Amino acid sequence: MKRAVTKHFILLLMLFTAISCGKNEFAQEDNYFITTNEPIAMLLRGITGDANSVYCLIPPGVSQHTFTPKPADISKVEKALTLFYISDNLDAWISNFENIRTICSLKEVPNSLIHYFPDKAKVPANIDPHFWTDPLIMKAIVPRLATIMAELNPMKAKTYKTNAKKLTAKLEKLDNEIHKALEPYKGKSVLLFHPSFLYFLKRYELNYAGAVEPAPGKQPTLQDIAALKRTIHNLGLKAVYAEPQLPERSLNILVHGTRIKILKIDPLGGVPGRKNYFDLMRFNLKNILKGFSD
Ligand SMILES: [Zn+2]
Repeated sequence: MKRAVTKHFILLLMLFTAISCGKNEFAQEDNYFITTNEPIAMLLRGITGDANSVYCLIPPGVSQHTFTPKPADISKVEKALTLFYISDNLDAWISNFENIRTICSLKEVPNSLIHYFPDKAKVPANIDPHFWTDPLIMKAIVPRLATIMAELNPMKAKTYKTNAKKLTAKLEKLDNEIHKALEPYKGKSVLLFHPSFLYFLKRYELNYAGAVEPAPGKQPTLQDIAALKRTIHNLGLKAVYAEPQLPERSLNILVHGTRIKILKIDPLGGVPGRKNYFDLMRFNLKNILKGFSD
C-alpha cells in the first residue's frame, strides 16, 4: 500500500503533537483492535467476546466515503494491535497513516464471492467493496479474521477460535432467516441511494434497479433524475432508500410530486437498535420488505 506522507498529514501530525498532552481514552489499554467499518467491528467483537476491546474509528452516522481522520485518530490507530480497513477503493485515506499494521478486509473475502459494480461508467473503481451486506460472506471471513487476530494476540487464540465457531453458526442462521423472508419476492427490484447493498441483493436474488447517487456525495443531474423517474415508473417501484450516513437532498428532488415512499436502509449501523450485525441486518430486511408493500 502507498504510504505517502502528504503536506496535509504533516500538518495533522503537528496539530496532534500540540494536543497529545490531553487525556487519551486509548492510552491505558493494550491489545485492542480497530477498524474503519462498524459491521466489521461487530464481527471482530463477536470473535473477541470479552477478551479485548474493538473500536471503530469512524463514528456512527458518518460515511466511510466522506470521512477524514482527525489528529487524535493517529494515536488510536498506532496503539492498536492492527487496523482492519475495507479496501483501497473505499478507505484510501488509510495511506495517510505511517508505520501502522493494517489488514485489508476485502482481501480476506474468497475471490469467488467478490462482485464488481455493474455500471463501470458511473463507478470508476470497479470492485464493489460493500461485501459486509452479505451474511454468508461475513460467515466466510470469520475464521480468517480469527486466525489473524490469534497471530497478533496468541494468548487469546483459543477464545477467538471458540467464539468464531459460535459466530459462524449464528450468521448461517441469519442467512436462513433472511432467505426465507425474501423467497416470495425473488426478482423484485430495489432502488438504492448509493450502491451499498449489491451483495445483499445478489445473495437473495433481488434485482438492482440502480442508485440515486452511484458515487456518494456526487448529486445526480436533472437528466439522471429523469432517468430514475422512468425506472421507478417502468418497474412500478413503491419505495426508494435513504441512508443515515448520506444527505437526502437528491432523494427529495426525486420523489417530489410522486407517491413513492422514502424508507431507510443502513449499511453501517452502530446506533441504538443497530449495534450488532444481526439487529442491523434485521432492520434492513424489515425495510426492504416494507418497500415491496403498498
Ligand atoms: Zn458505500
